[in-house]
Amino acid sequence: MFEQTQTVDVVENPDQPPSSSMKRVTELIGRRLQLSVESDAIREYRALFHADVSDRDWNDWRWQIRHRLTSEQDFERMVELTGDERQALRMQQCKFPAAVTPYYAALIRHESSLGGSALRYSMIPRLAEGFVTMSELNDPLGEEHDSPVPGIVQRYPDRVLFLTTDYCSAYCRYCTRSRRVGRPETKSRRIGVWDRAIEYIREHPEVRDVLLSGGDPLTLSDAALEYLLSRLRAIPHVEMIRLGTKTPMVLPQRITPALTRMLKRYHPLFVSIHCTHPAELTPEAAQACNRLADAGIPLGSQTVLLAGVNDDELILTSLFQGLLRMRVRPYYLYHCDQVAGTSHFRTTLVRGLEIIRSIRGFTSGYAVPHFVVDLPGGGGKTPVCPEYLVRRDGDKLVFRNYEGREYSIADPVGTFQSRPCDSGHQGPLQ
Ligand code: SF4
Repeated sequence: MFEQTQTVDVVENPDQPPSSSMKRVTELIGRRLQLSVESDAIREYRALFHADVSDRDWNDWRWQIRHRLTSEQDFERMVELTGDERQALRMQQCKFPAAVTPYYAALIRHESSLGGSALRYSMIPRLAEGFVTMSELNDPLGEEHDSPVPGIVQRYPDRVLFLTTDYCSAYCRYCTRSRRVGRPETKSRRIGVWDRAIEYIREHPEVRDVLLSGGDPLTLSDAALEYLLSRLRAIPHVEMIRLGTKTPMVLPQRITPALTRMLKRYHPLFVSIHCTHPAELTPEAAQACNRLADAGIPLGSQTVLLAGVNDDELILTSLFQGLLRMRVRPYYLYHCDQVAGTSHFRTTLVRGLEIIRSIRGFTSGYAVPHFVVDLPGGGGKTPVCPEYLVRRDGDKLVFRNYEGREYSIADPVGTFQSRPCDSGHQGPLQ
């Protein structure tokens, strides 16, 4: 049986202005929610485009969402668009939408003024999105196939992915779920799907780990998130809950003290932050991450390797070291999934291996994420590792270290005898 659901006041539609009562509450407590830092890029942007907007409004995540840039005209006001981008923005209206928060638009503008284009490429559509290769699919990971009930994807034995919303405050052009995110959804549909998904988890005692994703679950209201977290936490076999989000990078205003106070009631809770480039590591993002870390939430990151955006050793080293300074452990570097219309973002796997090889050993091990490929058709995340063990030389194994020098270690053949025991030991390496 499904639990009785709350269908009123649980989910706010972030596309709509808050209700008047919500507005009053926001006004009353607004000052306490504000980020207390402001980077130069944001200050300049506000002076140019939002000089009449109060600190309180700028720091209100709902204001940021209500004022997202979504059209050719919006983007044109902010940066000089190329002909390609202009045309792509005109054509994308019925496809995967474009949107960025004013906060992130300020970062794009600042980066463009310095001659960079990484953030811009990752958020502003280009005509190349219309080009689909033979190996690309709308659902490259086969998530729809591995979905026992709407909203749940179960690919591994002890954990599930829970797609809580199809909404994000900004739309990454390489999104693996572009087939579904950014589409309109209704409150009632969302609650119905949630209750069914929670029921599925309750009925499956093998599920000890639930990853809330979407879309971006941190675009839900505190009440909506608590609706989900409290019900999941009440299931005895759910040992841990994870949240996958890009919010601290695109909408740091969302990480309010009220949110973190609520989240810390549901430990063990982990947050996995999607970040792309060091230009995202602003004082605002750092404060958002600090708030989460201070609430006792372990923070990890996930980054997609993207051609023309971050496929460079120095850029990624700077990103991973910067994340550690912000108390975020770099966790995954993904080879770009074979999503329809993303070939312009995809590097070769060999390039990813070269990058990982040129980072490992040259900086702290904590700054080196797992490089993984999410295998098409539901094969799952599979690590791709540079080879350091190069050969056997008699009773020695020869390794090549991070600098390319060879070292050997004694490993006599037959030292470890294969024996019939239940330890699972398989005998010596041959
Ligand atoms: S934040 Fe995640 S779900 Fe949203 S558009 Fe970006 S990649 Fe897709």
